[in-house]
Amino acid sequence: MYLGIDIGGTTIKFGLFKSSGALDKTWTIDTNREFDGMFIVNDIEASIGDNVAIHTLKGIGFAAPGPVDGSLVIEAVNLGWQNVDLKAIFEQKFPDVPVTVENDANAAALGEAMSRPDAYQSMVFVTLGTGVGGGVIIDQKIVEGAHGVGGEIGHLQVVEHGVTCNCGQTGCLETVASATGIVRIAQERFKTPTALIKDTMTAKVIFDLAKDGDAFAVDVIDYVTDVLAKALQNIAVIIDPDAFVIGGGVAKAGSFLTDQLKAKFDKIAFSNTRNIPIELAILGNNAGMYGAYHSVKKEVEA
Ligand SMILES: [Zn+2]
Repeated sequence: MYLGIDIGGTTIKFGLFKSSGALDKTWTIDTNREFDGMFIVNDIEASIGDNVAIHTLKGIGFAAPGPVDGSLVIEAVNLGWQNVDLKAIFEQKFPDVPVTVENDANAAALGEAMSRPDAYQSMVFVTLGTGVGGGVIIDQKIVEGAHGVGGEIGHLQVVEHGVTCNCGQTGCLETVASATGIVRIAQERFKTPTALIKDTMTAKVIFDLAKDGDAFAVDVIDYVTDVLAKALQNIAVIIDPDAFVIGGGVAKAGSFLTDQLKAKFDKIAFSNTRNIPIELAILGNNAGMYGAYHSVKKEVEA
């Protein structure tokens, strides 16, 4: 059995997997963020003890919400953690059980890549949520990069003289294609707000209006998908992946989003990269848990 554990700011998800890859059982515990998250590690240990026969455990994979260097969680603002070495901690608690640690977006990318009927060799995962995140998979491995920044697709520079991003730079993809970016663009362009949108402007409302043919919303989404398609084109000529996979809350717009994106991508794609499919994520909030499992299984079986 393998454990995939996704540590989030509100809940911690556990998935117990058979070596065949079948999910045997899954459960969650609340994340206790008191005192800089100092109880989290012991809570996880106790929950493993309650739910798993330790002698059957071949490995534990973690997904953590922050930059990871090797097995060190450098900083996880949502947990209150700084420099927590999960591998060292858990290999001390369970001496014969190998441990891997991945950044949660990277783990989600690996989970999505490995969970298709034919697992992708290479894939680029883009999450459009409150921010824009992602992960790059090459040869079924996460591209972490020399500084742990591989796959930070949200900070592709896509707008000249753009607004300031959370990262401190300007014009990043995150300022356009995140849920907050979409609302910001709509608000900027909205000269005469109607009651319909004024008080309830969310990315979902804008997409719903666009689906109904509202000219204003169509225009906003048209701009967002233009920018996103160009970003994917730039990635395509570097990675040439088997597929792009789009996840996160904004991807709930479904094929309305991916069809538009694919049509625009195809128009600007270089050579055979226009054959790259743009798909929707299939694992939802479980992607990180699946990826954590695949990461440790790969390490153990390598
Ligand atoms: Zn940025």
